Amino acid sequence: MTARDTRIADAGVIGTRAPRRGHVFVIAAPSGTGKTTICRRILERDPALRLSTSHTTRKPRAGEQDGVHYHFVTTGRFRELVAEGRFLEHAEYGGNVYGTSWNAIENPLGLGHDVVLEIEVQGAAQVKKRIADACLIFLLPPSLAVLEERLRGRGTDDEAVIQRRMALSDRELAAAEIFDYAVVNDDLERAVEEVLLVIHAVREGQEDSIRARFGRAAVMTAFLAAQARAASPRR
Ligand code: 5GP
Repeated sequence: MTARDTRIADAGVIGTRAPRRGHVFVIAAPSGTGKTTICRRILERDPALRLSTSHTTRKPRAGEQDGVHYHFVTTGRFRELVAEGRFLEHAEYGGNVYGTSWNAIENPLGLGHDVVLEIEVQGAAQVKKRIADACLIFLLPPSLAVLEERLRGRGTDDEAVIQRRMALSDRELAAAEIFDYAVVNDDLERAVEEVLLVIHAVREGQEDSIRARFGRAAVMTAFLAAQARAASPRR
């Protein structure tokens, strides 16, 4: 093969098959559900997955690096990128704006990687509208009481932020109807296994095998019934 042939073969034209285009997996959850930890673990466990790096106008927290955890931009720059049509989705959350650029996902998808978007629910709805076969997975905390405890334990946010995030989590639970699957994070290792089961079933075109167990409607109904029982215990 000439050098040119090798380049063409590398691009999947001859000699090798073009890689299958990857799937988009959206993972959303009320803040404090353990979404970031679960995403980190599933990425460690499944080498075919890539995490999309979002843009945000929020200031970096201690230890966060530009271009790694987020692309940190000013509000003005974010607006310019929106006007240029650079975002697959974007949403305001807790006083800041966050968005997934097309750039963040197109390259890995084209190379056959499945891409994970760790985003909030308004953005998830926009992804579903634009990428019809995107798989939306909603993570639930063991209970709303545990969610509040976790937000406080995290120690990164002050009281006003925690209160704002608890109010937001109500809105997020209400918006969960658009999701395909739901997983309860009452045990981290189990939740990681379950999210991977969903991802692998979707990747292999075997969604029938997971619907009964992880279908969003069934999981959410059980979760909300448990919250209602906890809120009004029998005397
Ligand atoms: P944090 O400020 O804690 O990093 O993120 C706040 C919320 O914004 C989290 O729910 C996070 O998942 C979400 N988020 C992060 N990146 C994006 C994004 O690109 N788009 C949307 N819609 N939400 C995002």
